[in-house]
Amino acid sequence: MASAVLVLNCGSSSVKFALYDAESKDRLLNGLAERVGTPAVSITIKFPDAPVTITDLDQYDHHGVLARILQELEGWRAERGLEITSVGHRIVHGGEEFSASVLLDDEAMAAVERCSPLAPLHNPANIAGVEAARASLPGIPQVGVFDTAFHQTMPPVAYHYAVPSEWYADLGVRRYGFHGTSHLYVSSAAAELLGRPLTELKMVTAHLGNGSSLTAVRNGESVDTSMGLTPLEGLVMGTRSGDLDPGILAYIADRTGADVAEITNDLNKRSGLLGLSELSNDMRELIAAAESGHEKAQLALDVFAYRLAKHIAGLAVPLGGIDVLVFTGGIGENSNPIRAKVLEELSFLGFELDAAANDRTVRGASGQITSAQSSAIALVVPTDEELVIARDAHRIAQTTTSLLEA
Ligand code: ADP
Repeated sequence: MASAVLVLNCGSSSVKFALYDAESKDRLLNGLAERVGTPAVSITIKFPDAPVTITDLDQYDHHGVLARILQELEGWRAERGLEITSVGHRIVHGGEEFSASVLLDDEAMAAVERCSPLAPLHNPANIAGVEAARASLPGIPQVGVFDTAFHQTMPPVAYHYAVPSEWYADLGVRRYGFHGTSHLYVSSAAAELLGRPLTELKMVTAHLGNGSSLTAVRNGESVDTSMGLTPLEGLVMGTRSGDLDPGILAYIADRTGADVAEITNDLNKRSGLLGLSELSNDMRELIAAAESGHEKAQLALDVFAYRLAKHIAGLAVPLGGIDVLVFTGGIGENSNPIRAKVLEELSFLGFELDAAANDRTVRGASGQITSAQSSAIALVVPTDEELVIARDAHRIAQTTTSLLEA
């Protein structure tokens, strides 16, 4: 039997999954369950030969969905002699409890529960996923990979907010950062691409997708990042505001009568590129609209790129300069006009664009997009968070199994 790793990313109403060959780390298949928890639940499994969609579930929750996915995979696995020997879970918030991926035993699960107030929309769904996997795959090691873990190396000067101390001491109010798995992956892939050790590089990684964040990486460790207690802080995003004056909350509440929950919802869902453009949160659509003269789309792009450049430059402080800037995520990997604009704004830091390289480095390509004379280097590196989860799950499961056997 060959070993396979099941990677799970459970949201409150969705389950993303993928199966990896544990040795080669090739992705064998992936899929998505949507509308989990409702009778309209559907599961799509992208078998390489013929994708299938399943809608006839009689148990709609995470347990029912995962049990059905595993049942559907059974025949396909058996034909290929594949056995699931570990499960890797994406877990959003690890608070100060987790600085690396871990085996999710009872003690670790209690710690994940303790982090739930910090991510009330995400951690409970992640926990439901772990419980479902434990029930469907008893005895198989479950491993947690945390969005926040990579940033636990940030020094106090970077993670403290200037607020009453007891907010931190009693309630855990501090900057945690997110997208850690992506920042970790692309920083090490970038060093590999350059053929230089991470320890030599002052690097900023820019994960630009629907959610966007930056990380300053020194000696391979996160020393600062743009997201905070929640993924709302920092850059302008698809529908999230990023940084703003906290005084705005009271002002809007006074003027409109909206409560904190409503305003927070607006800042998360009706702001960012969508709020500015009144058109879309999708970068492709905005670039096309701006080209045909849509003024608000143009404003949204300008604010996005300006804030991005300003934040990147800010990370020169913890790094003492920037040698390498890495673009990743849907926008970072594909949107050459945004990259060009940002590098132009950052020319004072020594970035000089190679326009032809920038234009051809899209759709999964990786490589350098600054010229040979450029004193600072910008790269595009496609991210692969699932691969990191698969690697960590297999590595930690193997250690656990050998400890049990010893
Ligand atoms: P998520 O954060 O949901 O994983 P992605 O990393 O897939 O999101 O990024 C989504 C963003 O990437 C969208 O704004 C989308 O418009 C943008 N994007 C994807 N392809 C392109 C492209 N070819 N050109 C410009 N933007 C693109």
